[in-house]
Amino acid sequence: MRFSEVIGLQEVKDRLVSAVKEDRVSHAQLFSGHKGSHGLALALAYASFLMCENRTHDDSCGVCPACVKNDKLVHPDLHFSFPAVTTPEVKEKPRSMNFIEKWRGAVLDNPYLGLDDWYDHLGVGNKQGFMSVEEANDIMRKMSLKTFESPFKILIMWMPEKMRVDAANKLLKTLEEPPPGSVFVLVAEDGNALLSTIRSRTQLVRIPVPDPGLLAEYLIQSYKIDSEKAKRIVRIVDGQVAPAISMARIGSEEMGTPMEHEFIHWMRLCYMPFYAKDGTYAWNDLNDWIDETNKKGKEHIKRFLAFCSDASRECMLLSVGAGNLVRFDDSVIPGFGKFSRFIHSGNVEAIMELLGKASYGVERNANPRILLLDLSFKLNVLLNPRSS
Ligand SMILES: [Zn+2]
Repeated sequence: MRFSEVIGLQEVKDRLVSAVKEDRVSHAQLFSGHKGSHGLALALAYASFLMCENRTHDDSCGVCPACVKNDKLVHPDLHFSFPAVTTPEVKEKPRSMNFIEKWRGAVLDNPYLGLDDWYDHLGVGNKQGFMSVEEANDIMRKMSLKTFESPFKILIMWMPEKMRVDAANKLLKTLEEPPPGSVFVLVAEDGNALLSTIRSRTQLVRIPVPDPGLLAEYLIQSYKIDSEKAKRIVRIVDGQVAPAISMARIGSEEMGTPMEHEFIHWMRLCYMPFYAKDGTYAWNDLNDWIDETNKKGKEHIKRFLAFCSDASRECMLLSVGAGNLVRFDDSVIPGFGKFSRFIHSGNVEAIMELLGKASYGVERNANPRILLLDLSFKLNVLLNPRSS
């Protein structure tokens, strides 16, 4: 990957390039972004620039042997560390080396991937990845090796927020006194979530939200979508590159992510009366939805509830006529504008509190089926004030 292929971030690129040219490369850097940010793509371009045998004044050449290997993520001096999970094949002590082939596949397919994309790629829906002491030992071993071909050996650590405390403690000394030629690039979505002991040993490189115009232009060029669609995507994602790319790639006319449609669908189910006129229960559709959602696993439910909280706030803003502040409207999710009448300043706080509590319940291993059913009943009351 070359700097020219990374969306925006010109100032950051310039700073990195100057540091390399002036021979003051920091041995441990923290690329700190935001959810869905594109720090990984920048880290890959930076690694290529550091290792390139024939740099131009501001980019790697893209054709020398080092660049070719880096483009395939197989340069022997380029290492990766990322959250790993247990799977049927890796039953215990999962670490990056167990998943390196899958990692290469995922990153080559989409260097802008987000954490959700990675878990989807691994097919581990309801599990949270982490970096363990064994991972820290692997890192120390790799970084103590002599370089093979490049003056640098580079470790790109993606999502260091997922590092366990014991693993982090193990790495402190290596980060402080790294073996010669080492460059650690930590790529975080939320640098503040990192242990302060790690943060204080790195040089901070902030990854700003990309300019909306540049992001739209990138989507138009790379995915051949029209400018209206690109603009709508950019509005929805609120600066997150990973979901913008996912949406542009789907290439469907249907706008919005599945989660946005799921939100409208669920809210409709919650709004409808739970009893039919003949006195029987009329909530089979809700029951089906709960079953389907439960199958997607705990992590999905947590993400979905967090999304619902955001979307509820947007509904409330629409209901008070603050349409210029919202990301979703009818052009993005058909029916959203109409639905927003039901979530307003009178109930939004209670709804968000319920969603927050439910998410906490899922985290604490409450039964998701019971929890979603209970939540749906409570939402039914809040959405139909006269029925309470
Ligand atoms: Zn090159």
